[in-house]
Amino acid sequence: MIKIGLGYDLHALEKGRPLILGGVVIPFDKGEKGHSDGDVLLHAITDALLGAAGLSDIGELFPPSQEQWKGADSSLLLQKAWQLVTDHGWTLDNIDCVIAIEKPKILPFRKEIISRIAEILQCRDDQIFVKAKTGEKLGEIGREEAVCVWAVCLLSKE
Ligand code: MG
Repeated sequence: MIKIGLGYDLHALEKGRPLILGGVVIPFDKGEKGHSDGDVLLHAITDALLGAAGLSDIGELFPPSQEQWKGADSSLLLQKAWQLVTDHGWTLDNIDCVIAIEKPKILPFRKEIISRIAEILQCRDDQIFVKAKTGEKLGEIGREEAVCVWAVCLLSKE
């Protein structure tokens, strides 16, 4: 059995916050606003994996109303969610992601981001792919007010 999953997330960008994508801190003067560390890429991946398995979603598992998730390391949230998914017998085929962000350029950090995600999910680097697009100066992405991510994944089970 194979199942596809889709995850999406958007966070506002704010001066003085760290920009964290896929567990990697990227030097920039703005970062994601959020209850947790704001890692929009890991949030989208978490939702894609949970969605493929039909288990839950990030908001249900880790409610922003609960104080324990304030400033939480999103890699730990992803690890917990992935544990739940693998406990149900699923294995990962691949994940592909698009990050929409006007600045900075993500390409120089791509390998590091891929390796970090693979490390969190205990899979190979070639099972993960990440690419970035600008907003062509249009809308909230183009105005550097937000960053958003779409992630798809494929899971299989015997
Ligand atoms: Mg989020």
